[in-house]
Amino acid sequence: MIPITVVEFGEAEEKLVLEVLRSGNIAQGPKVKELEDSFAELVGVKHAVAVSNGTTSLVAAIEVLDLKPGDEVLTSPFTFVATLNAILEAGATATFADISEDDFNVTADTLAASASDHTRVLMPVHLYGQISDMDGISRLAADNGYAIVEDSAQSHGSSQNGRSSGSFGLGSFSFYATKNITTGEGGMITTNDDVLAGRLRVLRNQGMRARYQYEVAGHNYRMTDLQAAVGIPQVARYGGTVAARQRNAQYLSAGIERIPGIVVPRQLSGRSHVWHQYTIRVTPSAGISRDEFVTKLDEQGIGAGIYYPKLVFDYDTYRNRADVRIGAYPVAERIVKEVVSLPVHQNLSTGDMDRIIEAVARAASTN
Ligand SMILES: *Cc1c(COP(=O)(O)O)cnc(C)c1O
Repeated sequence: MIPITVVEFGEAEEKLVLEVLRSGNIAQGPKVKELEDSFAELVGVKHAVAVSNGTTSLVAAIEVLDLKPGDEVLTSPFTFVATLNAILEAGATATFADISEDDFNVTADTLAASASDHTRVLMPVHLYGQISDMDGISRLAADNGYAIVEDSAQSHGSSQNGRSSGSFGLGSFSFYATKNITTGEGGMITTNDDVLAGRLRVLRNQGMRARYQYEVAGHNYRMTDLQAAVGIPQVARYGGTVAARQRNAQYLSAGIERIPGIVVPRQLSGRSHVWHQYTIRVTPSAGISRDEFVTKLDEQGIGAGIYYPKLVFDYDTYRNRADVRIGAYPVAERIVKEVVSLPVHQNLSTGDMDRIIEAVARAASTN
């Protein structure tokens, strides 16, 4: 079986983890600071604030914007459930804008079409590792006084015209086990805003500014030095990781793009793609349903994934909630039935990729 994701650590991680264990200081300490500094450099921002995971990083980023009840966060309906849960946890109302089939992300146009008088925050999700059109979205935000929180959980280092995801307002990253950079569980908030960065550091640590000085009712969202020790070497070698994923995506597309009915993912002009997922679309003209297609891949030993099988709000628990406002999203509703993600990770061999291409061709020609 060729797995959709693998976690591989080297001697550098082992050495740092051992160093932390032997130091006796395993809570948030110097290694967390070191990870923050290197990650801020990767994103090209002044501040990076480490937290316990990508969901708490979204919650904190929204909370620090001081929204009032009824204020709306406008996001993508085509995302992992954490995006929606974080909005609700922060006490805001979630609303949605349709996506583009070019990059699976919201655009300035779809956001503008879905904005209301209550919209306060735009929360684009850079799905699969390709940054949304942040040039356009930033203009929309500036024109209307919206804040930006980027859900960059899948897009570490993806950029548009040289500017990285997570640098356009508040950026939120995840270091969960399957993400491009992992600490097992972990997250990071990035920003150029000195005041917000200071308040985020307070918020993650029980609302404490100085010892026993509680400024807000805060959280324990801290990361540990053990986790940071696992992340530091991965940030250092991330350029190589992304280059390998980019080469793999190119190789897969060269083999798959000729297969009738299958649409390969595109890297749009002016953007870089860090290929968290390599996601094809099985369109109606393929003559096989997406789910049958995945079964055929599975039979051939290819670990394919469906991210995501439904739109984020399309579950009973989110229906009839006043804080989840749902409309019609024709593009997302179509795409959600077509997507299949194939392995693209840095540890694939050329032989693995030939097998994947061959399996896709066979699955698509069954009918
Ligand atoms: C992984 C992910 C999150 C949440 O991150 P966790 O670290 O798992 O809490 C949020 N949004 C998106 C789009 C994700 O892929």
